[in-house]
Amino acid sequence: MKITELKRAGVIAMILLTANIAGIAQVSGRSAIDERNVRAGMVFLAGDALQGRGSGTIFERIAAEYIGSQFMQFGLEPAGEKGVDGKPTFVQTVTISRKTFAESPTINFGSTTLTHGGEMLVLRTNTDSAGGTLQKVEAGGKPNAGSAVLMRAREGDDQRAAMQGAMALASAGAAIVLIEETPQWRGNWAAMSSRMPSYTASQAKPAVMIVVSKAAAAEIAKSADGTKIEFGGKLAPSKDQFTWNAMGKISGTDPKLASEVILLTSHLDHLGVRDSAPGNDKIFNGADDDASGSVAVLELARVLAAGKKPKRTVYFVCFGSEEAGGFGARYFVENMPFPKDKLVANLEFEMIGRPDAKVKPEELWLTGYERSNLGPELAKRGAKLVQDPHPEENFFQRSDNIQLARAGVIAHTVSSFGLHTDYHRASDEVKTIDFVHMTRAINSMVAPVQWLVNSNFVPAWVEGKRP
Ligand SMILES: [Zn+2]
Repeated sequence: MKITELKRAGVIAMILLTANIAGIAQVSGRSAIDERNVRAGMVFLAGDALQGRGSGTIFERIAAEYIGSQFMQFGLEPAGEKGVDGKPTFVQTVTISRKTFAESPTINFGSTTLTHGGEMLVLRTNTDSAGGTLQKVEAGGKPNAGSAVLMRAREGDDQRAAMQGAMALASAGAAIVLIEETPQWRGNWAAMSSRMPSYTASQAKPAVMIVVSKAAAAEIAKSADGTKIEFGGKLAPSKDQFTWNAMGKISGTDPKLASEVILLTSHLDHLGVRDSAPGNDKIFNGADDDASGSVAVLELARVLAAGKKPKRTVYFVCFGSEEAGGFGARYFVENMPFPKDKLVANLEFEMIGRPDAKVKPEELWLTGYERSNLGPELAKRGAKLVQDPHPEENFFQRSDNIQLARAGVIAHTVSSFGLHTDYHRASDEVKTIDFVHMTRAINSMVAPVQWLVNSNFVPAWVEGKRP
């Protein structure tokens, strides 16, 4: 049956009217996002059948295939690898090459050798060998590129504060960071000694973090600045692991703006099954973390694909293995399918399934809100985005957005995580999701995202706030 001209005119008038009055994405007074679709995605991704989508497991792959299949249904273009028929797919397989030391690695300086498990512990490394020249810097000091920095313990320092200091030194250019032990590390010394250090190969510059005993720290402190410090060890044959990203795109239509990219992301993995979990439930469903963000990406894809094609190109990517170390996102950043300087902004969606009592019920917060002008600009376009009310949690650095932000891309995470106690527990289940909140949350981002993908606005870091 055909709709009559009169009725059609009436419907169009109504659509225009409601859209104008509400100023948000609505069709005939209805939300652009359908709660039924939100539920459907959540029930599948966070149901027991997917076994908690453990990073790098077959269940993570099934989640990626499902999301890719949905992207295909919505009419997105494939952005993944070629399939068996030679045609591009919506999934990208990432090889994670895990390297494990065959024997305890060492630190050498002068005539001294420190061995992992003895006078030192390898906390983190991304290489089997690195060298640096000794530089003693005060806390917050600036290390030279390729230096080996000694961080002395200070009264009251805890492990977390020391680790944050070490990370800051490494990202400021130190190749080796030597941290004097804290009581916490001393307490775990035996347990940490029993594990051979391992890492996954990446193209990042060498960064080695080592805890040294009090005696070793004192000895290093006596050495002159400029002393050569060498880290290294023999590797066992490496074993490949895999992770999967779901990837789709809508090519832009504007001759000038089509080469620019807006990237909407989430992570599709969670913690899988843990037999050591207390109680009978061993499945970590990850409903809020981050099935909710993945469903947000899905639903934004559905709406954008159904509407007028955007001026800019939009990529929709759900990353694999965030929980295991951000491997899906890291691979994406190191192998972008477009020139990096064309990536205008990234919005990651994480944990929007429940409201945060620290902000107004309809509000979402944006990590690192004060770092760029993207959040304020989106808020002007109707986004219910406010500053992250939990700055002490460092959420800006705790999701995939940080992989992009460190590469210079304006990248933030949208969330409403109110620090609920189901976080990273088996109890993060679909039954705890507030679907009215979640549907409204995704809906509130539709109009601002539609504006962003059709505008020529290029966000920028606030001076001095680039990570
Ligand atoms: Zn997460």
